Amino acid sequence: MIDFPAEPYRIKTVEPIRLNSRDDRDRIIRVAKFNVFKIPAEDVYIDFLTDSGTSAMSDNQWAGLLTGDESYAGCRNYFHFEETIRDITGFKHIIPVHQGRAGEHILYSSILKPGDKVPSNTHFDTTRANIEFLGAEAVDLLIDEGKRPDCIHPFKGNMNLEKLEAFIKANRANIPVATMTVTNNTGGGQPASLENIKKTSEILHSHGIPFIIDACRYAENSYFIKMRENGQDKRSVREIAREMFSYSDGCIMSAKKDGLANIGGFIGLNRDDWHEMVTNKMTLVEGFRTYGGLAGRDLEAITRGMVEALDEEYLAHRTGQVKSFGELLKGVGVPIIEPTGGHAVFVDVLSFLPDMPRELLSGWALTVALYREGGIRTVEIGTVMFGKYAKDGKMIFPPIEYVRLAVPRRVYTESHLKYVASVFKRIGANKKMVRGLRITYEPKFLRHFSAEFEEV
Ligand SMILES: *Cc1c(COP(=O)(O)O)cnc(C)c1O
Repeated sequence: MIDFPAEPYRIKTVEPIRLNSRDDRDRIIRVAKFNVFKIPAEDVYIDFLTDSGTSAMSDNQWAGLLTGDESYAGCRNYFHFEETIRDITGFKHIIPVHQGRAGEHILYSSILKPGDKVPSNTHFDTTRANIEFLGAEAVDLLIDEGKRPDCIHPFKGNMNLEKLEAFIKANRANIPVATMTVTNNTGGGQPASLENIKKTSEILHSHGIPFIIDACRYAENSYFIKMRENGQDKRSVREIAREMFSYSDGCIMSAKKDGLANIGGFIGLNRDDWHEMVTNKMTLVEGFRTYGGLAGRDLEAITRGMVEALDEEYLAHRTGQVKSFGELLKGVGVPIIEPTGGHAVFVDVLSFLPDMPRELLSGWALTVALYREGGIRTVEIGTVMFGKYAKDGKMIFPPIEYVRLAVPRRVYTESHLKYVASVFKRIGANKKMVRGLRITYEPKFLRHFSAEFEEV
């Protein structure tokens, strides 16, 4: 028996979902050229593509929408947003943006130039793409434990501090900024410890390098610190988060994650010079700095969501649900990254499908099988997302091959998760359901969003 935590909320509004027939799903995945990003959402039964922007808003957030002040400049929701987020993060400047990657683009295009290098524990895919688009290099310096799926470690999102020191010594002139992603999305939603964030900050600052936190899941990360780090259990998640931010010079946040909102984000900054560069660029691409590409009502929903996401009963349920889901999958023989992280269960494809050559894009192929066999949408974090081509045209495989099952916040119940486990059980019993693929079309950046495939 796996213990599922009970929801600290009840359901007031429902949205019907429907499971198409297998024949329909087979037709739909072919029309989509075997890319689950191209499937209409109405044809998906359980959608684990992402936890981004897919949260169920509370009655309080929906009520907040009606208080939206849609004035061009200085709307009241902006002041509420600024005050609330400044109180949570401690940053001097709070600049709304329409989502995280807009913040990445605006900040990084202001401070990076070609040839620069940006170290991180692990860059998320949009962050990496934004940095590489500017001709700079995104460098991952995760601890080794974080790269081993079956290695148990409380903070698999930690920065490798020795590697960071060595990297700075070798490249100091070309590092205008460094960052840490909390939790580490790409590496399995794994947290970084407060101690590691503090030491990272000390190393960077001793070399005069500014430190930006990619804060999308800062509340989940802070909750893990409370539960797992020595001496932190008596503190509130809010206090821990505030201390975490105090070690940095700013943050980029997608409010589509721990903001419990469907759209939005912000940049937090202490440096006045960066604030000036960013707000100048804002007007050009996002809008005036008191709305940042958002409606006044969105700002209000984010503000209220930011507060709700720090509620410790909510966080206990959230992380408990993901953990129990992981147990359920392990129970039907699916190897996953352990311990489970904050927002998703990551299936270790190389262990689940040991006989399938990586040339056949095994992770991607599993996402296709999950859709065809169960109407479940997931995402590959492996060869299609991160693989690169060598000069001779051969694929250089990344160290990881995962399928991520991102759990939207406050959306699915235990029975939905049990259904997903039953589909995995069927695929596990008949692995021929997972058929190899070949890429027939790919764009230059972020190829997983629009690549096309055929079955081989
Ligand atoms: C989602 C995400 C982003 C980008 O945010 P968007 O709102 O999707 O643009 C950046 N970093 C991490 C770690 C993320 O999870």
